[in-house]
Amino acid sequence: MIDAAVEQLLLDDPKSYVIPADVVANVTATNTLEHALLVLSKVGYSRIPVLDADDHLQGMISLAAITDKLLHVPGAAVEQLSQYTVADAMLPVEHWVDDPKKLETILNYMVDEPFIPLLNDQNVFQGIITRREILKRVNYLAHNLDNHYTVTALTDEGQLSES
Ligand code: AMP
Repeated sequence: MIDAAVEQLLLDDPKSYVIPADVVANVTATNTLEHALLVLSKVGYSRIPVLDADDHLQGMISLAAITDKLLHVPGAAVEQLSQYTVADAMLPVEHWVDDPKKLETILNYMVDEPFIPLLNDQNVFQGIITRREILKRVNYLAHNLDNHYTVTALTDEGQLSES
């Protein structure tokens, strides 16, 4: 369980740490891998969502998955990526949340994932929650906890004991 005081500070206005769908770069499963490579290069991210025509999240596409596909193509020329679609290299969606207030889940997933998709109850893509946005909150918390709470050490030395 996240400490209630910490949760209250981190969760202030949860919608503000969601990057809304309309500014999240994405591709469709039917786009060519060449197109996906161009989009990834242009936005400078290593992984972006794959959406269908109704904005349902279908998977993820990453630079690593495209490179891996390319290395299995004889000749390994970038132009050959136009013969493949995003569906040929798409990665499954492992984790998502349906509520930006599910902080404990988000933090657990974020240990391994740089961003967590937010879906509504119809599985329609709403946006993403990124490590950067959460770290900004953690940074604020680290610098301002004693402006909101009185923190008292439980050990005699005022230091955390090793577990
Ligand atoms: P950050 O924490 O800002 O480094 O973002 C973590 C990851 O989230 C990036 O590496 C991208 O995979 C993804 N991401 C962040 N912002 C966007 C965006 N506007 N469009 C698509 N993907 C994004």
